[in-house]
Formats: sequence, structure tokens, C-alpha cells
Amino acid sequence: MAVITNKNNTLLELKNVKKHFPITSGFFRKVTGYVRAVDGVTLDVKKGETLGIVGESGCGKTTLGKTILRLCSLTGGEIRLKAVDSGEMKGLQDLDKRESFEARRRIQMVFQNPYASLNPMKNILSAFDEPMKIHSLGNKQERKNKIAEMLETVNLQPDYMYRFPHEFSGGQQQRISIAKALAMNPEVIVCDEPVSALDVSIQSQIMNLMRKLQKGYNLTYIFIAHDLSVVQYMSDRIAVMYLGKIVEVAEAVEFHNNCLHPYTMALLSAVPMPVVGAKSERIILKGDVPSPVNPPKGCKFHPRCYKCIDICKEKEPALKPSDTNPDHLVACHLR
Ligand code: SF4
Repeated sequence: MAVITNKNNTLLELKNVKKHFPITSGFFRKVTGYVRAVDGVTLDVKKGETLGIVGESGCGKTTLGKTILRLCSLTGGEIRLKAVDSGEMKGLQDLDKRESFEARRRIQMVFQNPYASLNPMKNILSAFDEPMKIHSLGNKQERKNKIAEMLETVNLQPDYMYRFPHEFSGGQQQRISIAKALAMNPEVIVCDEPVSALDVSIQSQIMNLMRKLQKGYNLTYIFIAHDLSVVQYMSDRIAVMYLGKIVEVAEAVEFHNNCLHPYTMALLSAVPMPVVGAKSERIILKGDVPSPVNPPKGCKFHPRCYKCIDICKEKEPALKPSDTNPDHLVACHLR
């Protein structure tokens, strides 16, 4: 894991980020409601760290990743990135044309399905070369050399650049996706379920490769996954997302030893114990995740919470530091 020495070394800041998708109906496509996929997320990402974001399917974590990349427009809130020259935090929506273009290069994404993220009609050389050319990353020969270097970095042969995506296995395709992101010289890589479509043996290879690359290229990862054991292996800090909101954030060791939110406790209780004979008391949550179209009043987790008290049904808890650790944030009335 990367060691974060400077606590104020923030590279990316999310302030009350919202992404609501309108639901339309009828001939005139009248807006009848909204899917509140991301509903007020506040987070910071430190340079050189891996911030894991974990939650059940449909909690909004992929949409959050896409809003960071500006693949989805913001409904509300602000995303700020540290400027290269001045070191000042600047809103992505306030950047001038040149800065905005540069920010697109600085933040890259690795998708869950590597095959779908590669154009089947283009060989690897063309797929890599196009964005590099747009961002003026060297002349034709320099770009080709860089592509060969990136393929070698992810343990693939340089002459694979002449092949097409269907000629590779799933693990090789994911290595290619990582190399493609790396070829842009990024600072932040948003990794959206990068190993969940792969076999377990390949998963560990890819995760170890990503950790090695992080050190070598001084990368910052936002690692999104639904599998808590994968997130724990990869992350320096972990944020738990539930129904479009962050409910707990802590450093990985603190998270494992002293989690505070009832939802996190339930997630952790489902992770298999690596010690033979060791038992953990499994917490089974009742019911399904409520609809993000009509989320419950008060704490969004209260219909499934085994510690719910009266106030939880009325008042939404704020995400605030715990009593014992100012870096451990939790949104629960009991804390
Ligand atoms: Fe459970 Fe209440 Fe805490 Fe929400 S605020 S997690 S309902 S105890």
C-alpha cells in the first residue's frame, strides 16, 4: 500500500456531488421524478493513495466514478482538482478550455468490462494512438515507442499492438485497458470494478500489477468495487456508499478494526475469515435496498438497520468525525 505522509496532500475534492437522472413519461416526455443515483457525496482524495469505494450494486458508485470523469454532468455540488502550476484547487466546471482538456488527460478510467471498453474494429495500436495524438503526446514514432513500453509494463509483448481485442483473454484485455490509461500519463485512475469480471487467479495478478504500477508511476487510484475483501486488499482508505451517499470513511486498518456504521458491520461480517476455524457472527440485513427514486425519510438505511431508533426515521444523520478518530467519518445517530 502507498504510504500517505501529508494529510493535506489533497489532489481531488468532491463537495456535495449530486447526479440525478430524470424519469420522463408521456408523449411530451414530462419529468415525473428523479433517480437520485448520487445524492450529496463529499470526499477528498489524497495524492498517491488508493481510495476504495464499496457498496452494493445500484448504490451509485459507478455513477460517482463517471461524474468524476465528466462522463456524466453534475446535477449539483462541485468537483475540484489541484492545478498543476499553482497547486490551487479548481472546480472542473470552472476550468478554461486548455485546463479542461488537460484535466481529461490527468484523470483516466479503467472499466469493468475491458472488451466493451476497447473498439473491436481497431487494433491496439490505433486504440492507444488516437487519444495520445489528440493530447499531442509525442510524434508518431514516439507514441508507438510509448505504446510498446506500456504493453511491456503490463507484461504483454510489444508486438501485440498489431492485434485486435478479440484475440486476447479477459485478463490480457484488462492489462491492455490499464496500459491504455497509463499511456496518457494520468495522475488519477478511476478503476470501476476492474477485477470483478475476471477469474480469482487472474484477479490477484491484476491487483498486484496495479499496486506495482501505482508505486512506479506515482498514481492515485479511486478503486470502486462491490467486493469488500478486494477493496480492503487494494485500499489505503475506504469509503462505504449506500443509496447515493457516503456513510463511513476510514483508513483501511481503522476500518477493519473499528468500523462504526451498522451497514459497514454487516458488510464486514460477510467477508470470509482467512484463518482456519475462525468464526465471525454474520449480520443478515432484512429486505432490499430501497429505490433511489423514492428514498426513505431520515437515515436512508433505517428500513434495514438492526440498530434503528426513533430519530433515525425522521432525521438524516450527517457524515462527521467519530469521537475517537477525526479521520474516521461516520453518518449514524448512534455515533
Ligand atoms: Fe441505523 Fe439509525 Fe445509524 Fe441509520 S442512523 S445506521 S438507522 S442506527
